[in-house]
Amino acid sequence: MTGSIHETPASPHVWQPKTAEEAWQCKQACGSEGIYIAGGTLLHTRWEAGIAAMPPHLIDISGIDGLNGIKIGEAGLELGSAVSLQACRNHPMLLRRFPLLTEAMRAIAAPSVRHLGTIGGNVLSIVGDSITALLAYDAALVWFNGQSEQTEKLTDWLPNAAVPGYTDDRLLLRIVLPLEGADDKQNRCTDLGAAGNKRHYGAFHKIGRREAFTPSVVTAAVLVTLSEAGEIETLRIAAGGGQTVPARLEEAEQDGIGKQIDTDLLRRIYERVGQIYKPQEDAFATSAYRKQTAANLIVTELWKAGGGIDGQGG
Ligand SMILES: Cc1cc2nc3c(=O)[nH]c(=O)nc-3n(C[C@H](O)[C@H](O)[C@H](O)COP(=O)(O)OP(=O)(O)OC[C@H]3O[C@@H](n4cnc5c(N)ncnc54)[C@H](O)[C@@H]3O)c2cc1C
Repeated sequence: MTGSIHETPASPHVWQPKTAEEAWQCKQACGSEGIYIAGGTLLHTRWEAGIAAMPPHLIDISGIDGLNGIKIGEAGLELGSAVSLQACRNHPMLLRRFPLLTEAMRAIAAPSVRHLGTIGGNVLSIVGDSITALLAYDAALVWFNGQSEQTEKLTDWLPNAAVPGYTDDRLLLRIVLPLEGADDKQNRCTDLGAAGNKRHYGAFHKIGRREAFTPSVVTAAVLVTLSEAGEIETLRIAAGGGQTVPARLEEAEQDGIGKQIDTDLLRRIYERVGQIYKPQEDAFATSAYRKQTAANLIVTELWKAGGGIDGQGG
């Protein structure tokens, strides 16, 4: 690995590995005195707020080969963990195929932070605003554990990572977004609207305390496919926001599968969201307010998916 570049006693050593193996070795050598750093935007806020101490060794992952690209791989669209939030926001393939994610990017911080902050850092914060959209797309995380790559569904990793005291030496290499079935591909390339005999609909919302440049109070994502007959074939619903670790609301999803979007279904899903979404409250918003907001957002989007005013929904 390349040597340290900052050696003054008051500053941490900054290591600049060129490969995942070097980064891993560096982490093993530093132990708890070293930390991976990508854009550093989240870490800096923690250090400045006194929530965490700056460790003596920083392992800068931004120069590692392969972590900075977006490409199509065997399992889907691969987002290198060190890709900036801004690059994700503007990437043509993401705009076309994964618009909920680009919408989430648009709502994160301001351009100055988005240019530095990375998608990997956002996910590993476990409360990043991109996570709700990534859950709706059933994203997977690909890690390097020093010997091999390991793939883990984001939805499986999040509850483990949320356990107090959780630590992980693994390096996040990339985030994979499945490109759904081949028949579907062409449809999704155009938009989320009517396609063939099916209709695809998706939406992401971030509610904050002001219009822009604001921490989230609630994030919600809905992704639905309707059959020609108007029945829900696939449904993914995710919610998070604030310090709530985002999660798929799977029981609400199950309520909808095979059903027409009508008043009864919307009422059932509204109630279900209130039961299973467990937001953390803080000084700014109660848990009850967040539940109601998430349920309103999700049900409104399902209603629109069903045709809204003009169609069978509502
Ligand atoms: C002013 C401001 C506004 C913000 N607004 C928002 C907002 O609206 N929404 C939002 O979600 N976030 C917001 N953030 C938080 C932050 O900018 C984002 O979460 C950003 O995506 C973090 O990415 P990063 O590369 O800077 O992470 P870093 O700070 O570099 O790292 C974050 C964590 O991830 C670990 N890590 C990073 N990459 C890897 C990897 N490849 N493998 C293993 N571990 C890794 C680090 O060790 C660290 O624990 C804001 C921050 C600031 C300063």
